[in-house]
Amino acid sequence: MQTVLKICKKCGVRAGSCSPEGKIHKGCGGELIDTGITTDELMVISKISNDDAFLDAMINLKEKDIIEYNLKMSQFRTQLEQQKASKAQSDTTPKCPHCHSSNIRPISGLGRGASVAMWGAFSKKINKSFECKSCGYTW
Ligand SMILES: [Zn+2]
Ligand SMILES: [Zn+2]
Repeated sequence: MQTVLKICKKCGVRAGSCSPEGKIHKGCGGELIDTGITTDELMVISKISNDDAFLDAMINLKEKDIIEYNLKMSQFRTQLEQQKASKAQSDTTPKCPHCHSSNIRPISGLGRGASVAMWGAFSKKINKSFECKSCGYTW
């Protein structure tokens, strides 16, 4: 069973980790109200934005328009997945397959065109997209 986030009606504090049967915020004596937001959803929302107003808006949305809310949640999850994927991609710096140096440069389309026109002998550079600055290897 998932824990549902509760907030104090009086001071607005989040009491997600409070005992499920607790209805009173011990800090101020205010009444705790169910937001309907599960801790799992809260995790997604807080990764998208740490703004309290944003969380409030999501709580309101879930109350008023569950379809729109679910749509937004699935968008957020996709967004987070993509962020994770692009981060993993940027972590793998391209390296020279010959000497494993990361000191490489992409051969631009223009560079390739020029090398074909001006340096016919180096035409094997066609279809290669990287050049190693350390050893000169292209691939
Ligand atoms: Zn309170
Ligand atoms: Zn190299």
